[in-house]
Amino acid sequence: MRTGSLESLRARNRRAVVAAVQANPASSRADIARRTGLSTTTVSTLVGELIARDVLCELGPAREGAGGRPAVALGINPQAGAALGIHLGHAATRVVLAGPDGSVRAERSESFDVDHEPARTLERVAAAAADLIADSLVPRDRIFGAGVAVSAPVLGSRALGSPPMLLDWGEVDVSRQLGDALDLPVYLGNDATLGALAEWRLGAGAGRDDLIYVMLSEGVGAGLVLGGRLHDGATGAAGEFGHVRVRAEGHVCRCGSRGCLETIVGARALVAALAHTRGPQCTVELLLQLSEDGDRGARRLLADAGRAVGDALSSICTVLDPAVVVIGGDLVARPSAAGVLAANARDALNHALPAVGNHAIDVVASGLGARSEVLGAALLAAEHADARIADLADAS
Ligand SMILES: [Zn+2]
Repeated sequence: MRTGSLESLRARNRRAVVAAVQANPASSRADIARRTGLSTTTVSTLVGELIARDVLCELGPAREGAGGRPAVALGINPQAGAALGIHLGHAATRVVLAGPDGSVRAERSESFDVDHEPARTLERVAAAAADLIADSLVPRDRIFGAGVAVSAPVLGSRALGSPPMLLDWGEVDVSRQLGDALDLPVYLGNDATLGALAEWRLGAGAGRDDLIYVMLSEGVGAGLVLGGRLHDGATGAAGEFGHVRVRAEGHVCRCGSRGCLETIVGARALVAALAHTRGPQCTVELLLQLSEDGDRGARRLLADAGRAVGDALSSICTVLDPAVVVIGGDLVARPSAAGVLAANARDALNHALPAVGNHAIDVVASGLGARSEVLGAALLAAEHADARIADLADAS
């Protein structure tokens, strides 16, 4: 074999090792060997090179050592670079600069009418992203790209912005416009699906390969991890949980149907209900603060919302048999609200489940606060950056 092809084989193996660590953080050398099919000797050599080049690092003892010498967990070195995560919610934006392992370096968020102002939204998140990069001192060639979480079905790299999800975004090419503004590759995903990715990799569902993530914000949605893979559905619209009809005579939803779950448990519905007693200036923050302070009305609203979510989950969980349901979004940004929502959803769900299942389903609050979607977006960009991280190893 010629030297050139040997070197390209070595580079390919290095990429496989990096990809295995990105997909399975805290892997040991033996785990990597098993996943890549490379010998443990080859893996050890490649890992040594990647550590020397600041691409991988040793994290400490691995979860389980396979007899003999204790195994060491490996991760992507936080110094290897960074990725942008951007969440375009219906009424707020959030931008983070995160390491390849999802550790947040810097963050900005803003309340904003995202639904109706696409041009200004993209301008403002691009400006926020540029500021974060400039302030971070991370070299420009070590920013791998931007992941963008949008509140709409996503197929491939395109948001399906036609009615009803994002009425005014129909013709907007988010990837191209942000890519031009930031001069970076941009990857698009559905926000609840990316929330599921973050909780599965880093949060309350870490390592649970059958997981449902429920996002309770201005919009309501679900992300699905089934058998260790994110599930988008045939048209990118899997997990539109907020538009499951739960009340035949309910309010008309922004999607055009009547009685959708979102019209009952979305942030807008809860704030409107609170305004009944607290006046028209109510906000989600006020609702969460009242709950922290022990206000009975606020806790009742959140408890009822949790029960409605649990009821709506029962048929989905009967069909999909998940190990865990993680509740996230803006409504779990404070501990009291998160606890009330998760506990009531758990009770209602397990009460409503038929006796055919093998276990009570665990329902827990997000391990990442209200950041799941934006961290998932950063992870999406970091996962696309496999090749670029490995390039760093090749370049040295
Ligand atoms: Zn709807």
